[in-house]
Amino acid sequence: MQIFRYYIIMEFYDTHAHYDDERYDEDRDEILQSVHERGCKKIINIGCTLERSKKSLDLAAKYDFVYATVGIHPSDVCSTPDDYLPKLRDMAKLSNKCVAVGEIGLDYTVFDSEVPDKARQERFFREQLGLARELNLPVIIHSRDAAEDTLRILRDEMKKGEICGVTHCYSYSAEVAKILIGMGLHISFTGVITFKNARKTLESLAAVPIERLLTETDCPYMSPEPERGKRNDSGKIPYIIAKMAEVYEMPAAEIADITMKNADKLFGF
Ligand SMILES: [Zn+2]
Repeated sequence: MQIFRYYIIMEFYDTHAHYDDERYDEDRDEILQSVHERGCKKIINIGCTLERSKKSLDLAAKYDFVYATVGIHPSDVCSTPDDYLPKLRDMAKLSNKCVAVGEIGLDYTVFDSEVPDKARQERFFREQLGLARELNLPVIIHSRDAAEDTLRILRDEMKKGEICGVTHCYSYSAEVAKILIGMGLHISFTGVITFKNARKTLESLAAVPIERLLTETDCPYMSPEPERGKRNDSGKIPYIIAKMAEVYEMPAAEIADITMKNADKLFGF
């Protein structure tokens, strides 16, 4: 019953959640209160579209422990109008709980043989990196099957001025992780590190200096073992921290403490 103990004693953060998702429509208030009571001290709800960025800000306005980001996810760039950027800027400026621009980036995964519009994704990624620079906010990067282009664009954009942030739901190699760390970025991991086939992701985790590490659920997705496949929530972060504790050979409470401090610093809590 070791895991149960983690639930009781630990405080932790969830730096990437989607509580605006329709899968919480039935019990959103209850689940948010419940995860807060179970130790999740801060939650960042992530924007994916204009509408969902607004919903994230609304959730942040309603709960003092919820923060929000605004951004267009790479998979949503085709359904987003060209004039989205001033709208995102206004939303970010009007809220005192917008802590980052995201999630933004590149996703070249092919679903239903639909070819990703790489040029449009690159345009949105660059524009939103520019917005983060302008507003002096960190970025939440989503990058899938697009490591090379992500690094190229980041290198290029960082020449124009400093950009800080996190690569979320990390899925690339330890080598790529080291490059991102070298660029000054943080890395965050979801419940994927608890999966049986997570060897590569665990190698990457081991390559991340602990002062650059963050915890996240990406809920309602990515539920960790032993709850894989079920709807996820921030109360399951202790499973992720337990795995991190194993890899770093440190007490779980210490991992929780360090990752909270890392997030405090990055997001200016
Ligand atoms: Zn996400």
